[in-house]
Amino acid sequence: MLRMTRELLGTTPVVPSPTKGFRVTITAEERAQLSKNIAGVDEIIAPLRKALKELEDLRKDLIEPYADDIVGNCEGCGRLLFVGDKGHRCHDGPILCAECAPTWNDIGAQWNEMKGSADDDPDLRFKFWEAFAQHAAAGGTGDDKALVTL
Ligand SMILES: [Zn+2]
Repeated sequence: MLRMTRELLGTTPVVPSPTKGFRVTITAEERAQLSKNIAGVDEIIAPLRKALKELEDLRKDLIEPYADDIVGNCEGCGRLLFVGDKGHRCHDGPILCAECAPTWNDIGAQWNEMKGSADDDPDLRFKFWEAFAQHAAAGGTGDDKALVTL
């Protein structure tokens, strides 16, 4: 199917513009050909969209009975995360599984990079370094994953 799509796309010649990198003018014939090609691609996409919608609905139906036990999906790999799993909760919302979670050093580097930028939050940054100090005092290292119970 992808090959079919590429064959359709390949029928419209790409003429580079010296100023914008794309065609500036298009003839009526080219418009008609392009419209026909796009319609062909849309025709290929339509059943895929329908199948995707059906799978998304199935996914919702499977999850719904356990909604109270599910925290969400890992932002990194998409894995389903359950209440009680070890993972990482980013300060701006996303959650990550233990495997995808950053280390304390990773997070410290991010805070150092953000320091003074629009994304910086001095209070949160301070809380992070405080938590890191507690982690180190308990025998942990910066190479440990920064995990919490989700
Ligand atoms: Zn993950």
